[in-house]
Amino acid sequence: MGKCMIIGCGGVASVAIHKCCQNSDVFEGIMIASRTKSKCDALKEKLQPTTKTVIETAQVNADNTDELIALINSYKPDVVLNLALPYQDLTIMDACLATKTHYVDTANYEPLDTAKFEYKWQWAYREKFEKAGITALLGSGFDPGVTGVFSAYAMKHEFDEINYIDILDCNGGDHGYPFATNFNPEINIREVSAKGSYIQDGKWIETEPMEIKRVYNFKGVGEKDMYLLHHEELESLALNIKGIKRIRFFMTFGQSYLTHLKCLENVGMTSIEPIMYEGKEIVPLQFLKAVLPDPASLGPRTVGKTNIGCIFRGKKDGKDKTYYLYNICDHQECYKEVGSQAVSYTTGVPAMIGAMMIMTGTWKKAGVYNIEEFDPDPFMEALNKWGLPWEEDFNPVLVD
Ligand code: NDP
Repeated sequence: MGKCMIIGCGGVASVAIHKCCQNSDVFEGIMIASRTKSKCDALKEKLQPTTKTVIETAQVNADNTDELIALINSYKPDVVLNLALPYQDLTIMDACLATKTHYVDTANYEPLDTAKFEYKWQWAYREKFEKAGITALLGSGFDPGVTGVFSAYAMKHEFDEINYIDILDCNGGDHGYPFATNFNPEINIREVSAKGSYIQDGKWIETEPMEIKRVYNFKGVGEKDMYLLHHEELESLALNIKGIKRIRFFMTFGQSYLTHLKCLENVGMTSIEPIMYEGKEIVPLQFLKAVLPDPASLGPRTVGKTNIGCIFRGKKDGKDKTYYLYNICDHQECYKEVGSQAVSYTTGVPAMIGAMMIMTGTWKKAGVYNIEEFDPDPFMEALNKWGLPWEEDFNPVLVD
């Protein structure tokens, strides 16, 4: 069917690459291009004997648009799948525009120095992508990603209007370390140490970090504490889903994680302000990342399950209705299949599916779009096929 260039070769990319290689009919060729080429080569060595997908590798600095343009021109992919960090979104989008290549990512652009998740920078590219006749699919991970597909599916099949959405992200996994993050520590800590927020009646309501706590009993996991966070898909879903009055995002955290985080925060280790250390400028949070366990190393040690989904409340045929769509994923099953834990798995699988939707022309619209703006049905079908089956509950316990 076609060729895909995958940028980045970390936790999420590794899963997406495994999945592309399982799906050789669509992904005839992939190029893995990242900052550290040896990681790309190691993955190629492991996977090439197992797949018909032809794997190539390259070194690239994705902060440099010219380098990206040269690489895209030499490989000529149908789609670029950006699985580097959110800081690279705009340089990669610029390179896609210059080469008229479709673009897919899993996280919205964030400037290095502000820790603020907003779509405004990427939405500003709408007209340029439309004119170039190419698609940018934003946020094709799990959250954002599957949560948007779930919302579009609920809207299409179950509701006339959706008034309330609660997105619940539960990781019931245990890696045995007192403190480690399940994906890129810098991105993760920036996310959880920021102020919380949710949207009510069209306005953002801000909370202190971790101010709002609820307890929820998750199927497959059990009872967990969860906290309200700011999350990027709230912004797009509030605009794209009809009738929204309130939309919130909750994530579970264990007490040990929160105690360590508080301590690290109190001593200044989570700061993104550069400081001088022995004559060299360092960013405390980047230094912390260097001493924490590599998320990729958590795979063999993590046991338990994740349960991520959305509880919807709204109206159907004039009557009140509630509906819960979720996926349960087992850390050890993921590790057996692709050598990664479930947090990378639940992001890498939808990343492959998003790229597949664009490569096969199943989703075809020129411009910049969030995932819930496309027909959810083929994506929902692909989730069942490619390892993230979903479950539904028509009488869920609600979050107050
Ligand atoms: P990792 O840190 O494991 O991987 C990032 C990869 O990008 C690394 O291989 C890194 O290279 C590479 N990279 C970083 N900077 C550059 C650069 N300038 N040029 C080229 N390559 C670069 O992160 P994750 O895999 O955990 O996360 C990947 C993305 O997925 C992030 O954007 C994250 O926010 C997103 N995400 C989305 C989720 C969702 O549900 N939507 C959930 C989890 C993550 P090197 O190997 O040299 O370090």
